[in-house]
Amino acid sequence: MSLQIGAEEEAFCREVRAFCQENLTEEMKSRVRSGQRPTVADWVYWQKALHRRGWGAPSWPKEVGGTGWSPLQLHLFEQEVSRADGPQQFHQGLELIGPIIAAYGSEAQKAYYLPRILSSDDWWCQGYSEPGAGSDLASLRTRAVRDGDHYVVNGQKLWTSYAQHASMMFCLVRTGNGPSKQAGISLLLIDMATPGIRVRPIRTLDEQHHVNEVFLDDVRVPVENLVGEEGKGWSYGKVLLDRERFVTASLGPRLMRQLQYVRNTAEAMSQGDRALLEDHGFRRKLAQAEIELMTLESMGLRTLQDAMDNVDSGPRGSMIKIRWSELLQRVGELWVEALGDEVSKFARLGDGSPNDLPTTAGPMLAYLHGRVTSIYGGSNEIQHNIISRRLLGL
Ligand SMILES: Cc1cc2nc3c(=O)[nH]c(=O)nc-3n(C[C@H](O)[C@H](O)[C@H](O)COP(=O)(O)OP(=O)(O)OC[C@H]3O[C@@H](n4cnc5c(N)ncnc54)[C@H](O)[C@@H]3O)c2cc1C
Repeated sequence: MSLQIGAEEEAFCREVRAFCQENLTEEMKSRVRSGQRPTVADWVYWQKALHRRGWGAPSWPKEVGGTGWSPLQLHLFEQEVSRADGPQQFHQGLELIGPIIAAYGSEAQKAYYLPRILSSDDWWCQGYSEPGAGSDLASLRTRAVRDGDHYVVNGQKLWTSYAQHASMMFCLVRTGNGPSKQAGISLLLIDMATPGIRVRPIRTLDEQHHVNEVFLDDVRVPVENLVGEEGKGWSYGKVLLDRERFVTASLGPRLMRQLQYVRNTAEAMSQGDRALLEDHGFRRKLAQAEIELMTLESMGLRTLQDAMDNVDSGPRGSMIKIRWSELLQRVGELWVEALGDEVSKFARLGDGSPNDLPTTAGPMLAYLHGRVTSIYGGSNEIQHNIISRRLLGL
């Protein structure tokens, strides 16, 4: 699909630009520009601001409180926010469980949870992975046993991002033993304040606290928190994993902006008597990354269009996931390369609290955190398997 920008789209971009100018704080912008992840306060602030403007859920249809924007508008919105150095919206409520509740949830669940996702009154975490059940997710062992009008949940989740901030978790649990590993899995919405839930932090390569272990001991979950039908959780969960790739499809403009930060750094760094940006070898690497990013953006747009038209885009979501993660890692490497010896300043990354970070640590943090993109949301090896199955029927 082509990028036809007319007067209407230009007016739309101006509107988004003006909104960003009015609502983004200098502090938030400087965090994004320096490669740091937004703080939870940034995310909540930004989501609330967008919600007040009626843009809380750019990718949702209007009937459930979204904008009903076209893929092109979604792309332009993301482009303008990225160019204004705004943060990405936090996706676990908005892009993962929200659309599943809208599609399969009860009327009561839709009426209660969807507005709270839009207003950021709930912070959601994703309780899928477990020890021994990551790529092979269907091997999950966390069990929910029916006891009157509750399920009693016991088990352990692993790598649960931002569970330390979450008020709610969407969680895959085993409610029965079917003929296959996939049968008998259900999707529950669990209030993180329920007695019996314990969250233990895990520090990642960047010495930050993004992920956790979550232990569930006799956690009583009301039956009305089951999404859809008991035992059908696997099919909802799979839709949700496809949504994760849909999110990736919209991230091209953000990465393009990050390449601009690398270019700015290369302009400021000298190599001998000239700026690094003048170096042919470095320029070639930047140009190659830019070309590949443009291709990624175009693939992303086609995938967004397919998703909105309910057209199966085949393995394109997996292809985008692989290319996006590889390019993100390459851009991170170029940033660190551009910094050269200056990188030694980043040896100390802070004690894990966002307030303790030296602002100059950003590119190194981005580089280290970038390693995760080829692991989460289904590792790249698994995406290769999906592509070969879908394309070659293997
Ligand atoms: C920072 C971070 C955040 C995360 N956030 C969340 C979250 O919020 N919620 C959540 O539920 N999960 C989350 N995850 C978990 C993530 O989805 C899993 O780590 C991922 O699915 C891989 O599973 P695993 O770690 O168990 O590795 P394994 O599945 O044990 O895989 C180990 C290695 O073997 C390869 N491999 C495995 N099976 C195959 C195969 N069949 N063919 C080829 N290669 C294979 C993998 O690609 C990988 O390289 C997060 C992970 C990280 C690192």
